[in-house]
Amino acid sequence: MDETTQIYWQKVETGELWLQFCSGCERYIFYPRSICPFCLESSLEWKKTSGKGKVYSYTIVNISALPEFNLETPYIYAVIELDEGVKISSTVVQCSLDKISVGLPVELTLLERNHRKLSVFRPRDY
Ligand SMILES: [Zn+2]
Repeated sequence: MDETTQIYWQKVETGELWLQFCSGCERYIFYPRSICPFCLESSLEWKKTSGKGKVYSYTIVNISALPEFNLETPYIYAVIELDEGVKISSTVVQCSLDKISVGLPVELTLLERNHRKLSVFRPRDY
């Protein structure tokens, strides 16, 4: 885990979702990296996000490729479009499979697995 990735996980531990922000092109960046993928700017700052967004696309996972996370299958793996406009991949919890849909409002929540907190999303009206 490099220094950049470490900041991300430290913030997740506190229940906040921080992403890198490029002041050069005014875009949020996910996943953490050292250079802006859009304009190659190398001085990126960290900004707290609202942790709110909506489901952009999703898939229902029946066989987990990530056994270390111990996620109970089936679970929902989704691309979330945050209110800040950036898309991040995550899982959606506390959501029945017949409720998940594109456009569903979601918010950040934490899931603890193997003594590590994971940032996941849940429906916002729960
Ligand atoms: Zn940029």
